[in-house]
Amino acid sequence: MTRTSTPSVAVQTVPPRLRTKEKSSATASPNVVLIGPPGAGKGTQAARLALVLGVPAISTGDMLRRAVQSGSTLGLAVKAVMDRGELIHDAMMTEIVAARLGEPDTRSGFVLDGFPRTVDQAVALDGLLEQRGHLIAVGLAVSENAIIRRLSQRRVCERCGCNADPGSSHAASSGVAGGRSAYSTICGCGGALRRRSDDTEAVIRERLRTYERSTKPLVDFYRQRRAFRAIDGTQAPELVTAQISQVIDAVFDHAAS
Ligand code: ADP
Repeated sequence: MTRTSTPSVAVQTVPPRLRTKEKSSATASPNVVLIGPPGAGKGTQAARLALVLGVPAISTGDMLRRAVQSGSTLGLAVKAVMDRGELIHDAMMTEIVAARLGEPDTRSGFVLDGFPRTVDQAVALDGLLEQRGHLIAVGLAVSENAIIRRLSQRRVCERCGCNADPGSSHAASSGVAGGRSAYSTICGCGGALRRRSDDTEAVIRERLRTYERSTKPLVDFYRQRRAFRAIDGTQAPELVTAQISQVIDAVFDHAAS
């Protein structure tokens, strides 16, 4: 199908709808990269898109946290860096992601959350994806105040890794009592909900500085290749997912035309 309108403009007016992979043949092999500051909703959207598109969500932050929890050599090496809100070395991250993208479930596409985070990582990803179809980078924009508010409220399940914000359907119970948020402490899967060790205000601010310095240049990197679309990340999660899906469809439709 030929598309002449600009996808990022067109999607603003279309009502949200979740589709299945079957209904969306244009997204047969979507290789999606989510870019955005901490707290922009990359993890939430990666999980939702993975369901919609029928591809794996790959979160480098989750992979690193699992390594820290397991006490492995990798975990010991990265813990202090993560707790400072800094980035793990590009070469180490590229090796981790290369191994994951070598697994067969990624052949039909993937949603990457947290990689690439530097231009060097993006160049390395290009090398890993040779002959594997189109890459589309989606930027989620959220203001700094909203990020700090979101992250200081966020709770993450120790067991399944899901984000359980107040009111999240993942939480076993949650609500607002006496004007103050009352958080559940147990996830729907039975795991304990905890604050991430890097979700303190000081570390959040450092992660935001790291984002501005190292990750934001990626927007220009992908924009120059016309592989970047921006979405307003402050909208309801369902709406953000629907808009990203439409953007992906538009890019693939255009490529197929
Ligand atoms: P957020 O996007 O909320 O900051 P993530 O869960 O994606 O958090 O990542 C947590 C931490 O893991 C980062 O602050 C960083 O230390 C490390 N990390 C994750 N992905 C990468 C990457 N691609 N390159 C370098 N460090 C990474």
